[in-house]
Amino acid sequence: MEEFPTFVTHLECSETGTHYPADQLHGLSDAGKPLLVRYDLDRLGKTLNKQDLKFRLPELWRYREFLPVRHSRNVVRLGELMTPLLPATKIRREHQCGKILIKDEGRLPTGSFKARGLTMAVSMAKELGVNVMAMPTNGNAGAALAAYCSRAGIETYVFCPEDTPTVNVEEIAFQGAKTFLANGLINDCGRIVGDGKEVVGWFDASTLKEPYRIEGKKTMGLELAEQLDWEVPDVILYPTGGGTGLIGMWKAFNELEAIGWIGGKRPRMVAVQAEGCAPVVKAYEEGAKHADPWLNAHTIAAGIRVPAAIGDFLILDAIRASDGFAVSVSDDAIHDAHQYCARTEGILLCPEGAATLAALMQELSAGRIKSDENVVLFNCATGLKYPMPGDHHKIDLGEAIDYDLIVSD
Ligand SMILES: *Cc1c(COP(=O)(O)O)cnc(C)c1O
Repeated sequence: MEEFPTFVTHLECSETGTHYPADQLHGLSDAGKPLLVRYDLDRLGKTLNKQDLKFRLPELWRYREFLPVRHSRNVVRLGELMTPLLPATKIRREHQCGKILIKDEGRLPTGSFKARGLTMAVSMAKELGVNVMAMPTNGNAGAALAAYCSRAGIETYVFCPEDTPTVNVEEIAFQGAKTFLANGLINDCGRIVGDGKEVVGWFDASTLKEPYRIEGKKTMGLELAEQLDWEVPDVILYPTGGGTGLIGMWKAFNELEAIGWIGGKRPRMVAVQAEGCAPVVKAYEEGAKHADPWLNAHTIAAGIRVPAAIGDFLILDAIRASDGFAVSVSDDAIHDAHQYCARTEGILLCPEGAATLAALMQELSAGRIKSDENVVLFNCATGLKYPMPGDHHKIDLGEAIDYDLIVSD
């Protein structure tokens, strides 16, 4: 593969705007806030045009000019294919609303969109000479870290809350990370990683505590715009934990507008959380800049069980600037939407993806989403990673088979 033409100029503190040099290892800014990667968009826009993309592979690295990796030899890839936008036409008809498209991120390596962030973070870690990485996780991020680090030859330590879904814990360990379960939540695990930095000397790969996962997640916005022929939808519903994806897509739309590939229209960004863990919703409703940590966080949607997010103000800014909102749904509603989508559309969502469908139905009734708005729902992981309530019947091969019983209900 040829060298990448790169356009990174510097990194910037997301709160103070202070500049930091590119091509050096960074965590948070001196203000303790996430760092954002900045590009020479003027030069990028003059170098690349939309038509160039047509000749590239249908994968994340087609957007390499918008990405931070300097040398193609550092790219750690597992096949980050573009994910489909599946129309949910029956649900649309039953709810008499605008177009519903489900962006199915479960097709990515390790079965979740965490692969987008981690292919980027691990590639950059390789480029900047990192040997050991550590991370707190509710499951999917740890799995992606483990996979990409094993591929890159980087050692990894992963810390999960003890009730993380078993399949996640097993895949993390199986893919080569030293895996620990702690009797607390993701923030407690985050503290273990943060404190261990000094002692063990690992690089902290927590959500938004290193600058590159967000650049990987940004490709969701680039890809969505390209798939919609450089239009944006009216509304995006995003299951929000740490918020990397929402912040990343917002950044993508701003960069695309800066080079003139899209206009000034933005989707209304809707952050979807669970009633048992809704710090962003509370802050949104109170008009606050930051969110208070949520106590006793609980929900079946583990990926959005994040009691405190370091990028809370960036999530809230994007929601407000886009005329969107933040909304919570109950675990019962998540469960019902999960089942409903599988049975009507044949699309097996993850619980977090089901939360966005539950929110759509709830807000169509409440009127905050209008029946003429086209919406995109994010399904962030394959439904196969999560437990499903069984509903089946037994057959005894020692008896004559009763076909009347089989077709009766
Ligand atoms: C991580 C995760 C989320 C939340 O994504 P953020 O960008 O961190 O807010 C949602 N759903 C699933 C399945 C996840 O793994």
